[in-house]
Amino acid sequence: MSSVSSFHAQKVDLPMSTQTLRLILGDQLNARHPWFVRPDASVCYVMMEIRSETDYVVHHIQKVLTIFAAMRRFAQALQQAGHRVRYFKIGDPDNTQTIEGNLRMLLDETGAAGWACMEPDEWRVQQILEAAAKTLARPFEMVSTEHFLLTRAEAIRTCATRVPRMEFFYREMRRRYQLLLDADGQPVGGKWNFDASNRGRWQGQPQAPDWPWAAEDVSALYQEIQAAGVRTMGEVDPAALRWPVSRKQAKAGLQAFVQQVLPHFGAYQDAMSVHAPLLFHSALSVALNLKMLHPLEVVEAAIAAWQGGEAPIESVEGFVRQIIGWREFVRAVYWANMPDYAQLNALDATRPLPAWYWSGETRMNCVRHVVRQSLTLGYAHHIQRLMITGNFALLAGLHPDEVDAWYLGIYVDAFEWVEMPNTRGMALFADGGTVGSKPYAGGANYIKGQSDYCSGCHYDSKRRVGEGACPFNVLYWHFIDRHQDRFSANPRMAMIVNGWKKRPDPEKAPILATAGRYLERLDTL
Ligand code: FAD
Ligand code: SF4
Repeated sequence: MSSVSSFHAQKVDLPMSTQTLRLILGDQLNARHPWFVRPDASVCYVMMEIRSETDYVVHHIQKVLTIFAAMRRFAQALQQAGHRVRYFKIGDPDNTQTIEGNLRMLLDETGAAGWACMEPDEWRVQQILEAAAKTLARPFEMVSTEHFLLTRAEAIRTCATRVPRMEFFYREMRRRYQLLLDADGQPVGGKWNFDASNRGRWQGQPQAPDWPWAAEDVSALYQEIQAAGVRTMGEVDPAALRWPVSRKQAKAGLQAFVQQVLPHFGAYQDAMSVHAPLLFHSALSVALNLKMLHPLEVVEAAIAAWQGGEAPIESVEGFVRQIIGWREFVRAVYWANMPDYAQLNALDATRPLPAWYWSGETRMNCVRHVVRQSLTLGYAHHIQRLMITGNFALLAGLHPDEVDAWYLGIYVDAFEWVEMPNTRGMALFADGGTVGSKPYAGGANYIKGQSDYCSGCHYDSKRRVGEGACPFNVLYWHFIDRHQDRFSANPRMAMIVNGWKKRPDPEKAPILATAGRYLERLDTL
């Protein structure tokens, strides 16, 4: 077990020769960025653990620990490579707790001519940096993080006239980067998308791997965060944080995933089980979002496994699609549509989040399991986020602002550029169909088909009427009923909506009455 508690941020002496301060944000830990090619005595890197970043939403404790621990490791590595780094710890007395305040202090101290930063991924931080540039009134430069496959400007251009469907965006990315194409430019395996092969139900075999990340002792850091009074949620054993905090760990995790887990990723991508939180997912999103791994190196490792005959095309294509497709796509949607996107509420959802989103104290087995797992690990895989907690929020009409805040806080990999289009767009359909062409709404049939959650549940997955009927069934039909006008024109929803409309009222009334009762007491479900 290694430790980050030994890191003592050196208070570097900032000589008057400092010409430029370069700010590195906590999710910009890209060691291969051109900034770091060789040390430059006229440059001082600035990193800061600040309250404005810990407090804009209530974060999972593991998220704060992972980001700060990874930042400290990164600063240490820079120093060891000969770079000068000024690092503000959360409890440092001279830490003003804001980007602008700390930069102002350092600019005054050193007389540096100006400062630079990398493009932030969140709109919120872009506003903070632009405001700082204005008030600091020194020469200022913003450079690319060199992380994504599309520059931010390219990403925005992709959606300039109309947001494309993800599938077509993804094909363009494959063509642009020549990934999984044959000599004629056609997709290998004869089709672009093996989604239909990604829906297996897992029944205990093949054996699911253990959680991939080794324990890291962050007890000292945990004490510092507690002493600073940062409000967090979720659970942690600070002596054994299980997330990657260095590029070395992230690379080892990528390699282990590709060799041992990827072969099964495709078949069980949509499966869920009480026995295996991760199943055959990679848990690489944190390493990717902190930029410890580059998306191209991740997909190239997966493609090499396919080329070596170690993983089937269904798995490799599915995995590549998530990274060069969905991940780049949601970023493009976000940057092309902010800040308006954050206000969208196309389905006029207004209900508050039931309290059990924060505790897991509900009798719905599927929700209880996913929320508890999220509180324990700071992780849920995609189908758990989309078809359990997200699906419930959609069906019950929970307010997108509250749902967004929950997703943004609870997952260690959560940053608004990727969280919001997934939550507001994909899960809640609050963007009216920009991310997805139809809402991802499902009843117990779907959940039962993909998981083992329903056996032993307080609710009956087959019932749609009366106390004890599965809330997903009941609320599903209430959702269809209340949005029938909107969705009867949607080609992918019309059949369901028209089928519902044709049902006789005496059949519909008890379902809607049960739903009405459930909606009145969501907190007690
Ligand atoms: P894997 O299943 O192993 O997938 C590999 C990689 O593909 C992931 O690491 C991730 O980088 C990328 N990826 C997969 N699906 C998506 C997607 N829909 N959008 C963007 N990238 C994707 N992902 C985040 O990184 N941060 C978030 O805050 C976040 N919030 C979400 C909220 C909701 C409501 C939903 C439905 C999805 C959200 N996702 C988010 C997307 C996805 O669920 C996670 O990226 C994934 O679960 C991370 O686990 P993994 O690394 O094991 O993924
Ligand atoms: Fe979830 Fe309904 Fe199944 Fe219970 S019966 S686990 S509430 S889908």
